Amino acid sequence: MAQTGTIVDHSLNLIKEDETFLPHLTWSNREKAFHSLAAILSTPNYIHKSFLRIARESGEVVRILAFRVQHNDTLGPYKGGIRFHEEVDEEEVINLAALMTLKNALHDVPFGGGKGGIVINPRNFSERELHLICEKYVRYFNGIIGPDKDIPAPDVGTSEREMDWMMAEYKSINPGKPYLGSFTGKSVGNGGSLGRREATGKGVYFTLRYLIHNYLNKNIDAFNKTEHPYAKTLLNYKDKTPLKLAIQGFGNVGSVAALEAYICQNLQNKVVAVSDRNVTLYNANGLDIPALVRFTAQNRGDLPTTKEQLVKENIEAEIYDHKHILYIDVDVLILAALADQIHQDNVAQVQAKLIVEGANAPITAEADQYLNDRGVVILPDVLSNAGGVIVSYLEWLQGRETQYYSEEEVYKQLYEKMQATFDHIYPQYFNDRYSLREQCYIQAVKKLCTTLYRQGKLY
Ligand code: GLU
Repeated sequence: MAQTGTIVDHSLNLIKEDETFLPHLTWSNREKAFHSLAAILSTPNYIHKSFLRIARESGEVVRILAFRVQHNDTLGPYKGGIRFHEEVDEEEVINLAALMTLKNALHDVPFGGGKGGIVINPRNFSERELHLICEKYVRYFNGIIGPDKDIPAPDVGTSEREMDWMMAEYKSINPGKPYLGSFTGKSVGNGGSLGRREATGKGVYFTLRYLIHNYLNKNIDAFNKTEHPYAKTLLNYKDKTPLKLAIQGFGNVGSVAALEAYICQNLQNKVVAVSDRNVTLYNANGLDIPALVRFTAQNRGDLPTTKEQLVKENIEAEIYDHKHILYIDVDVLILAALADQIHQDNVAQVQAKLIVEGANAPITAEADQYLNDRGVVILPDVLSNAGGVIVSYLEWLQGRETQYYSEEEVYKQLYEKMQATFDHIYPQYFNDRYSLREQCYIQAVKKLCTTLYRQGKLY
């Protein structure tokens, strides 16, 4: 996974070249300001970690490593998910927390960045044990979380069930204090927001849709005249229908993005391949996504893996190894599984010329460089998967106001917010030579820089 320090240093170097940014600073103050900012953003404010002691149902007592990293709170309370994964470690949580700082800054969400991690494979624990782990997590980190301090949410391996348990524990150990805003991504019956569960997947598809169907087609003439390194790639997408899509990951993000593509038939895009940890399913004419969603709902989230299962469900698809998804010749590859999926050793086999990051950091820094050099257009995580945290913000607001928005209102606000970011980012992108990721980092770091400067924190 790309290192926070590198990301920040790189964006700062790009911003330094822009003399119109903070023009009233003298040259030496400018150097000092950028130096302070690099120091502030390349390290997290706090790293909290603890071993949670849990008695398993077997009677065995185990100690489970858990983290909460609070990266930066310049723009508001720390905010970010908690992931349950057996390979999550401190460095990964730090980097993911930094990404949250940048994501929130980019989309003007008034939160800082944080992330949590618990080192377990949730599939190896019973529901009762998971419930205990959630309660212990809240008890151990109670002092540092809260609606105005640090607000966790779901991430890989967690869902509204865990957020409901955690909020309940927070409420019971903080009697009389506001609690609805302590966790977001809760179930609707428990103070959650309509549309939160679908928000990340819908936002991912919206990012792609907006670039291709709104922006590219309208601005193609101006774009045609630029020397943009990605122009050649994008020009191939103008009026190209149907676009063939492959989606890695069929969880909360991938399955919703797939369904969005399937439902928006008027755009005539086709999901020809999906995958999960076991399998890749392929159909050149487009997969029956609703049938696959129904199947996973009844099979612990897993896609069908055998011909018999496919026949029984009346789904037409060819079956391949789970890694195959990355190498299919499609127009768009959506990465909605885990980090570091495209790396130095497999990047040369990737054929898609447009990649959307639904997961956080699914492409390593080396692979990113390689793809950029080949003119592949990447819609980065901070831009495209922000739907989750944007609706988390709406959930937090609703909790504060104890007023609830309709689903229509939630999606309206979600798309307005994302659109405002795109309308800022895409024109800049079309006008200069930076990749979309660089463009997003530049905007996010500028926002943080301006705020810190106004607060007198850069000296
Ligand atoms: N885990 C999600 C993310 O990486 C959502 C975070 C949130 O809602 O706070 O963006």
